[in-house]
Amino acid sequence: MAILVPGGAGYIGSHIVHELLDRGEEVVVADNLQTGHRAAVHPDAEFYQGDIRDRAFLDSLFGRKRFVAVVHFAANSLVGESVRNPLKYYDNNLGGAIALLDVMLRHGVHHIVFSSSAAAYGEPENIPILEDDRTLPVNPYGETKLAVEKLLRWLSRATPLRHAALRYFNAAGAHSRGDIGEDHSPETHLIPLVLQVANGKCADIGIFGDDYPTPDGTCVRDYIHVADLADAHIRAMRHLASGGSGGVFNLGNGVGFSVREVVEKARKVTGHPIPARIRPGRKGDPAQLVASNAKSERELGFKPSHSGLEEIIASAWNWHKRHPNGFAG
Ligand code: UDP
Repeated sequence: MAILVPGGAGYIGSHIVHELLDRGEEVVVADNLQTGHRAAVHPDAEFYQGDIRDRAFLDSLFGRKRFVAVVHFAANSLVGESVRNPLKYYDNNLGGAIALLDVMLRHGVHHIVFSSSAAAYGEPENIPILEDDRTLPVNPYGETKLAVEKLLRWLSRATPLRHAALRYFNAAGAHSRGDIGEDHSPETHLIPLVLQVANGKCADIGIFGDDYPTPDGTCVRDYIHVADLADAHIRAMRHLASGGSGGVFNLGNGVGFSVREVVEKARKVTGHPIPARIRPGRKGDPAQLVASNAKSERELGFKPSHSGLEEIIASAWNWHKRHPNGFAG
């Protein structure tokens, strides 16, 4: 029986597809390639280009194969764009999930691992953040992730569907083989942007605000290696398969690093001076986001094994220096 991965051509999805295949699973990828890359899809995965809002497309996939589980990544994920264009995010992220869940239930597929986000919390009440802390998203992206989580919870009461919603903190790094990595257009994330400076593609990195209530005044984030995320998805799938109780799980390292620390570490890793300049803070950026992994460790047995910032940045650099133009070359 196969595993369906909608969004398996994207940054995080493509890494999970590699991991699933490495562990001997049969994998089917569905992706509309609006932001994903065909070249990111492992050649051993069966690939179908299509949109999950298209129920006829999904019906044909579910009619062709018996899926044991769905690991769902297909969504838009740019916070700034979501503020400018909320309809796009509700339509794709929530509308897409509704169509997918409807088709899953009609075809009797009852396990889903859902790609959620720390953006579901908004401004945190406590650090480290626990799964049952307040969720008050500050942008439509986070709202749509939380809306899908709530839908999953209601469905788990009304239907046989069981879910694990994984709230990622800041995904970073690339596959150890160096053939897949992060390639967003436009790129908005700190680590790839810093590495674009090291690659000579930008003159400097803007640091968004240096007057936050943090030790060095810049925002603190919890960076988690995409290989650790991949491992956590497989654990979540197995947890559901063995009858474990579903729900929401944080995925981070449990350790925060400031923007300045990231830039400094990237200078060390790349040997490039990476000039930085302070810019105004970005609207809606919480000062600190750091996960508690206690629940994921307890219930999924998850423990990050690539937790050092230097290792994470070195792994991203291994991809970016070999592929300065991402999948385009
Ligand atoms: N950031 C920055 N300059 C940039 C991009 C990001 O200073 O060019 C900061 C951003 O304000 C945040 C951190 O880096 O505090 C991580 O941002 P990113 O967009 O990578 O992830 P987010 O935390 O927003 O999901």
